Amino acid sequence: MGGKKVQIIVLLLIIVGALGVIVKQLMPKQYTYETVLIDTEAKVLYKALVKPGTKFPVKSPYSKKKTAYPAYQCMKCGAIFPYTPPPPPKPGQEVPPDYGIPKCPQCGSLEVTVPKLPEGKKFIKLK
Ligand SMILES: [Zn+2]
Repeated sequence: MGGKKVQIIVLLLIIVGALGVIVKQLMPKQYTYETVLIDTEAKVLYKALVKPGTKFPVKSPYSKKKTAYPAYQCMKCGAIFPYTPPPPPKPGQEVPPDYGIPKCPQCGSLEVTVPKLPEGKKFIKLK
């Protein structure tokens, strides 16, 4: 008798598990990740949640305009700069090897990182 009860419970668990997978697949994917953006107009560096595949610039809460780009910081000279996506290469045009790679506008270094905001701060004003 007890064996049958266990079978039913196992079956129920399988059904519940399968339903969970189905529901998960039907739900729209809303992954976001935290990154640091730079508002090129308000000159503010701030933390933001963005969805993968976001097209930049995005609307900044500081300038209220589409002037926010991903921020990078040069590991050599410390410069903080916005990453503006390069225009798509024209057909027949040679694509430079560093195409689309963030590059320091001050010293030309490719060693860049995402700048860190001071602990507890959501944004900082740039000079
Ligand atoms: Zn640099």
